[in-house]
Amino acid sequence: MPEITDSHLLIVDDEPMNREILRRHLSSSGYMNTTIVDSGQNCLDVVKSQSIDLILLDMMMPIMNGLEVLQQLKSHPEWRVIPVIVISALTEKEMMLSCIQVGAEDYLTKPYDRVLLRARVSACLEKKNLHDREVLNKQKLEAAYKELALAYYELEIVKNELEALSHRDGLTGIANRRYFDTVLEREWKATSREKSCLSLILFDIDYFKKYNDTYGHLAGDDCLCQVADASAQVVKRPRDTLARYGGEEFAVILPDTDAKGAIICAERIRMAIEELKIDHVASETNSYVTASLGISTLQPCKEIASSQQLIKEADLALYQAKYEGKNRVKMWEGKT
Ligand code: GH3
Ligand code: MG
Ligand code: MG
Repeated sequence: MPEITDSHLLIVDDEPMNREILRRHLSSSGYMNTTIVDSGQNCLDVVKSQSIDLILLDMMMPIMNGLEVLQQLKSHPEWRVIPVIVISALTEKEMMLSCIQVGAEDYLTKPYDRVLLRARVSACLEKKNLHDREVLNKQKLEAAYKELALAYYELEIVKNELEALSHRDGLTGIANRRYFDTVLEREWKATSREKSCLSLILFDIDYFKKYNDTYGHLAGDDCLCQVADASAQVVKRPRDTLARYGGEEFAVILPDTDAKGAIICAERIRMAIEELKIDHVASETNSYVTASLGISTLQPCKEIASSQQLIKEADLALYQAKYEGKNRVKMWEGKT
């Protein structure tokens, strides 16, 4: 018993007898799925609407002969992959050559040998199957690549979001201490290259322990958020960085900014905090929440080992501001 295949074969012949004999030969070889048409035009119509794996094409037909059908099939981007076996009574070499040149897989002369027909049909279908599988695999691969590219893109977005989150302080939403350290180091190096100066403001809320004790820790948290927002309104240049330095301490990195500019910026922050008018009955300097600010401005050079010097000086200036009565700006001027 021949193996039955589901390959779809198309028989094209204007002679009813030829068509029937060919169909029987094919079905006895296991090719049961055949469509039969009597003209070239009908062949093209079937190919247009159905999936065909192999065409068995007669040469001599009225209106459109086999060679014309073959030409149309082989010049079409999708149909050209369908193998065509020409079966014809014509035995001239030129005709056979023309068919092969146009793209026929094979040429059998009538009366054909049944065994030969079976072998050629089988070879053609095997090739076609291989081609179909290749196309399918290519499509699957392309789809997989697209999915992968999309996954990479989404991963990149998540990565960026996570990175941005890792730079933020959880309470106030401004930069955190870790990010501050990174930026300060980067700007210190950049300032050194640019041969300009770098300013740092450190500021600390006055009597904040008393604020917490008086209004509670949650009110204290809210106060920190308001101070961060008000300060962010003042620190406007794209290269400037406002960060939460510690509990109720903040820092501002001001690249390419001299002492004069840093004092103006610090004073604006001080006023912005005062103007929030957050009640602070326990404060000894004001009836509202205030802050003290210390500034250091440096021009990186060989004698200054690192950006830590900037922090040290700004911290000393802040200490001085506290010492002199709080709610003020102090520039570091002394020697360390
Ligand atoms: P000074 O005027 O000299 O700055 O005194 P101070 O009370 O502000 O400073 P001190 O360092 O004595 O106290 C800081 C307080 O800040 C104590 C701490 O509980 C509070 N604090 C630090 N981090 C947070 C926070 O995240 N939320 C709240 N609500 N309070 C905080
Ligand atoms: Mg403090
Ligand atoms: Mg304080």
